[in-house]
Amino acid sequence: MRDVVGNAQAQATLERALASARLSHAYLLHGPAGVGKFTLAMALAQAALCQRRQPGESEACGECAACRKLAHGNHPDLTLIEPAEGKRWIRIDDVREALHLANLAPTESAYRIVIIPDAERLQESGANTLLKMLEEPPEGVIFLLLAADADTVLPTILSRCQLVALRPLSFEQVSQALQERWGVAPEAAARLAGLANGRLGWAVRALERPEEQAERERLLERIVALVSAPADERLRSVAAIGSDNASARAALDVWIGWWRDVTLAANGAHALTSVGAARAEAARVGAAIGPEPARVYLTQLLAALASMDVNANPRLTLENLALALPHLRAIGARH
Ligand SMILES: [Zn+2]
Repeated sequence: MRDVVGNAQAQATLERALASARLSHAYLLHGPAGVGKFTLAMALAQAALCQRRQPGESEACGECAACRKLAHGNHPDLTLIEPAEGKRWIRIDDVREALHLANLAPTESAYRIVIIPDAERLQESGANTLLKMLEEPPEGVIFLLLAADADTVLPTILSRCQLVALRPLSFEQVSQALQERWGVAPEAAARLAGLANGRLGWAVRALERPEEQAERERLLERIVALVSAPADERLRSVAAIGSDNASARAALDVWIGWWRDVTLAANGAHALTSVGAARAEAARVGAAIGPEPARVYLTQLLAALASMDVNANPRLTLENLALALPHLRAIGARH
């Protein structure tokens, strides 16, 4: 698992359990998209299935037949349960089939690993089917459920899982990993890390799709400008962001990342993740509005993102947030 960047505590928890052959039957790895949940789950799967790993160790060799099969995505003891291409929900039949496989003894190693990369995409029927197996897990089966937010997973399932929290990486961790592992030049790495909100996965994807980075830069600019804009301009700007669920989510994601910096700055912290003009503006806005209004508004943004999961109207949600932004002038007048 040495190739996983950041989240040392989560890694150490899983490594210790694997090395001492005391893995739980089910883990829920939770944390924002792009922080490395899937990378960590796959690293654990590889180490668990590796044929050359010795007792007491937690690293895969990377060379044995099992490691090679895993790298090629065709290890028979690793099963992924995912929605079909382009679908939002995991089909119940796919859950049943995967669990049927999980019931069989491992073919090539001591474990069978079942990864559910988006556990929030299980519907109730699928979750209940899974729950039955979690209640009486077959010998050697390890479930790795991944979710952005533990609260979106059914409490009955949650209670059967050991929770492992993954947090966004620091600006430095993202920037350093981009330079050292992906060969990105220092300046470009800093720019990308500034947009990534601690999510290396997003940054690496953006390397392959530069238009995604440009898009996010425009979005960030727009969101930063909202704070100082009059109400009518805020509404126009929000309308331009888009009115569908996907663009509202993308906007909220950038908004939350930048507002975290505003909140940090409001509390006198200097370790902000934004760079350039966005960073300067976060520092200015944070200092102008103070810790409490910053925190309250951050909570509002997080609640808005959660409400997108239960079909809130994307356009209205963004409009409300734009209008509810703490007023710089009014707050400045306090002094
Ligand atoms: Zn191996």
